[in-house]
Amino acid sequence: MLKLVDVSVRYGSFKALHSINLEINEGELVVLLGANGAGKSTIFRTISGLVKPASGELHFNGKEIGGWSPDRIVKAGIAQCPEGRKLFLEMSVVKNLILGGFVHRKDKAEIARSLQHMFELFPILYEKKDQAAGSLSGGQQQMVAIARALMAKPKLLLLDEPSIGLAPLVVEQMFQTIAEINRSGTSVLLAEQNAYAALQIAHRGYIIENGRLVLEGSSGRLRNNEEVRRAYLGA
Ligand code: ATP
Repeated sequence: MLKLVDVSVRYGSFKALHSINLEINEGELVVLLGANGAGKSTIFRTISGLVKPASGELHFNGKEIGGWSPDRIVKAGIAQCPEGRKLFLEMSVVKNLILGGFVHRKDKAEIARSLQHMFELFPILYEKKDQAAGSLSGGQQQMVAIARALMAKPKLLLLDEPSIGLAPLVVEQMFQTIAEINRSGTSVLLAEQNAYAALQIAHRGYIIENGRLVLEGSSGRLRNNEEVRRAYLGA
């Protein structure tokens, strides 16, 4: 579904990504594990068109999307839920969600159906729909951020560190919801520092260090890898 071939990214003279080769098959939930500053968000921003690669190719469903504008990439079926949520805190929950469906704005019935679906997935958001997004708890705000991305009806959802700053019980529920979103047909690329929880739900994973992918494999293989256990699983 998505294939990055030898993708490199520079911020000025600093090379943030070195020849990244990564793929996601239809229906997969793939995790990207790495420390702060390793390059996870840069991979996401490159896929969603916010950062232009210095070299390499990005293919999505048979099309070369490298150089496409972010809105065109959303229309093609990739939506990003950014690190730190980036909600419009003073706007209501429902208005945040409607903005997520911007590419479908001409089809009011479609937007209404998607909203209904989001409120089924996250019932608490229905109760809070008219409240300012900023008045919600951290976990609820993360739900709004995920639901807002889903309003674009993506084939591929990019989730950048959704568990950051959340209480353990909330994280557990969040990961179950992500697994459910994937089971219902949306492919997911999930960047995480919470390796243990992410490897429980992912099919495959990649490890990124200093802008380079250093390891890839099934979740089972990564869980049993000595280096992964030492560096990411606290073994
Ligand atoms: P975190 O979990 O802290 O967000 P990350 O793995 O997502 O980390 P990135 O945000 O992709 O890492 O950053 C990768 C590297 O690129 C870091 O060294 C970072 O300082 C640098 N970087 C990120 N954005 C920029 C930018 N706009 N200009 C210059 N350097 C940047």
